[in-house]
Amino acid sequence: MTPLYKWQYKEYAPLSNLLNCPSQALLISARPGMGHDILIQNYVALLMCDRPNAKDNSFYTCNECPSCVLFIGSNHPDFYQLTVNIDGDKKNVSIEDIRYMLEFVATTTHLGRYKVVLIPDVDLLSINSANALLKILEEPPSYVRFILQTTNISGVLATIKSRCYIYRLPGVNTQDAFTYVKESGIYNPGFWFAYYENAPLFDLEVTKEQFDVLIKAFLQPSIENIFIASGKFEAKNAGFLIGFFSKWLNDLASYLQGAPMRYFMEYNAEIEKLAKRIDLQKVFYLFDKVNFLQDWTLHPLNYKLQLENLLLQYQSLFIKR
Ligand SMILES: [Zn+2]
Repeated sequence: MTPLYKWQYKEYAPLSNLLNCPSQALLISARPGMGHDILIQNYVALLMCDRPNAKDNSFYTCNECPSCVLFIGSNHPDFYQLTVNIDGDKKNVSIEDIRYMLEFVATTTHLGRYKVVLIPDVDLLSINSANALLKILEEPPSYVRFILQTTNISGVLATIKSRCYIYRLPGVNTQDAFTYVKESGIYNPGFWFAYYENAPLFDLEVTKEQFDVLIKAFLQPSIENIFIASGKFEAKNAGFLIGFFSKWLNDLASYLQGAPMRYFMEYNAEIEKLAKRIDLQKVFYLFDKVNFLQDWTLHPLNYKLQLENLLLQYQSLFIKR
């Protein structure tokens, strides 16, 4: 079992107090990049432990009882986790998996206490899978506990939500989370921590060299800088690039409206200078275009052309007509 990250203890305390959850189905809503899977794994282990210990307003597993030993060895017969299948850029939970789960809950526990079913990314269930799940959520056997998890609560069917006790993970201890990012040894840790909205578990996919040419293309959008930047990336970076573009325009628009920036505070002075030269309406127009692409991401086959095209449109924001 993976131990909690240091910043997670504050979040774990109230969760561990849900040992006696008012509902048999607990829906946990979390932000991505916070390590919620580890938090939830620790909570599931706690549900199964025979002798939980209380310490500092939290409950912890004993790690010694037969249940703990089996769970730590990933062998617990009373635990079932549905699998999220990744098919290209689509993810889903199969109806077969739901059927196995229904067979699993049909028989009583092996060790006492509960049978626990963990359903990650419950927002990705197909209609058929969701309907099958709903039936069992309506009248679950008394020994079953369902833990549902999502990072997109608005994508979870209302009928599922109505049968669950919804628990929102409160967020992180920012100082400990930032220390973790700093100690990971990445360049510009302060910038990236803000860029990923204080969620510390991100995979940084651009090198310092790539970052430098990219930011230069935004700060000084000359034709030369634009082509240098677009030449430094590969198709696999398409999703990152479109996200970067969107966040940059978001901050530019915020600045023009006198609202606080969220991602590029480090470039406040430069953005101030750029903002004097452009019109808010045009920023919104390009922002809409970029966000439309964000839903589809840049097409890997011609991402380079599209990136250059967008950057040239960005450049034209600064041309006085
Ligand atoms: Zn135990």
